[in-house]
Amino acid sequence: MPTENCHHLLNDLSAYLDGEASQELCAELERHLADCDDCTAVVDTARKTVSLYRHLPQPMMSPDARARLFKTLDLSEYLKA
Ligand SMILES: [Zn+2]
Repeated sequence: MPTENCHHLLNDLSAYLDGEASQELCAELERHLADCDDCTAVVDTARKTVSLYRHLPQPMMSPDARARLFKTLDLSEYLKA
């Protein structure tokens, strides 16, 4: 169930995903994730999104293929951005 820790985690999530969080913070977040399904789901989705943006060879992918991929990943809302 959501707790105060969830807010704490979500505030630090982008630093965590960018590998910019301190070791201490990472350990704290990972401890929380072990107990919290809600945050685990958020982190999984965010990770998917982050790696998508980082690793997609954007210029080589047609808008069509991108739309299909985003749809598959259920990230269609990001297409509006
Ligand atoms: Zn949580």
